[in-house]
Amino acid sequence: MTLDQFDVAVVGGGAAGLSAALTLGRSRRSVVIFDAGEPRNAPAAEMHGFLSRDGLAPSELLQVGRGEVISYGVRFIGHTAAAVRGDVDTGFVVTAGNGTEIAARRLILATGVEDRLPAIPGAREAWGRFLLHCPYCHGYEVRDRPLAIFGGLPGAVGQALLIRQWTTDLTYVTNGMALAEEDRHKLLARGIDVREGAITALVLDGGRFDGIRLDGGHTVRVDAVFIRPPARPRTELIASLGGTLDASGFAHIDPSGRTSIPGVWVTGNLVDPRAQVITAAGHANAVAMEVNANLVDDDVHTALLALD
Ligand SMILES: Cc1cc2nc3c(=O)[nH]c(=O)nc-3n(C[C@H](O)[C@H](O)[C@H](O)COP(=O)(O)OP(=O)(O)OC[C@H]3O[C@@H](n4cnc5c(N)ncnc54)[C@H](O)[C@@H]3O)c2cc1C
Repeated sequence: MTLDQFDVAVVGGGAAGLSAALTLGRSRRSVVIFDAGEPRNAPAAEMHGFLSRDGLAPSELLQVGRGEVISYGVRFIGHTAAAVRGDVDTGFVVTAGNGTEIAARRLILATGVEDRLPAIPGAREAWGRFLLHCPYCHGYEVRDRPLAIFGGLPGAVGQALLIRQWTTDLTYVTNGMALAEEDRHKLLARGIDVREGAITALVLDGGRFDGIRLDGGHTVRVDAVFIRPPARPRTELIASLGGTLDASGFAHIDPSGRTSIPGVWVTGNLVDPRAQVITAAGHANAVAMEVNANLVDDDVHTALLALD
């Protein structure tokens, strides 16, 4: 069976994947994009910090982006890319969850990350509404309100010192973890309360947030909680192609986003879990230009061989 052939297959249709597809579509490349439809910021009602689109619903940005890429002839497949095989010499074959197979000369992976939330009641329900990770995304919306930090995780003290920029009413809850004396001094010096105790639940009452429940049963009443959960990169496809990953599971890349697998690039949160929407889209735009330049080199090489 002859497969539909594309210059580039993009896996992941969030801000990064769509931005790469837009740049390549406008470069007159044939592009297919696969998307499982679970962007990281989906739980949030609003997207902030994207110049000219501040406060837009995350789903609306993607809907507009999908329309734009399709207008340049990009094929959108609303399914997971379940498997990838091949290499840069023979071409790559991508198989979608619905069985569709396509062939592509180059791959861009923009599959994002999965936030690993604490396994306590209320965490999943509160995520993106009352349990927040990024002050640049949501800090302004909860400014001057009583807030807490979910302590005990790597970077939690630094996060507390940062969030203090948005409110003076801040409590660092240790979650039963030891707090270094130096860190305690810094928190207290900035007027941040320190509350000892293990966190057993985040308490929601309908659409309202009550606060943090501690192991003794007491509830620390705050309007929102900031946390730095670990982020797991979705690198299954890179690993299946034999790409090298670092200890945290992120792909080894060069400054252009190229992985250790010739013909495969990565972008967006898959490269940098701290990238905001505008940063992820911007990085993907640069990666797309690299991929296009690589295809231009390939086209020249093929043309020269044809002359011999
Ligand atoms: C709760 C929350 C709120 C946020 N709020 C903001 C904000 O206000 N402003 C801001 O700038 N940033 C915000 N962010 C950060 C923002 O989510 C990221 O910057 C952005 O999502 C990164 O885009 P991306 O395209 O790299 O990844 P994603 O948006 O996560 O997109 C990845 C896409 O790939 C798909 N996918 C994964 N695997 C496959 C596969 N095998 N096949 C096909 N598709 C696949 C996923 O389903 C998803 O649609 C927030 C993050 C969170 C967690």
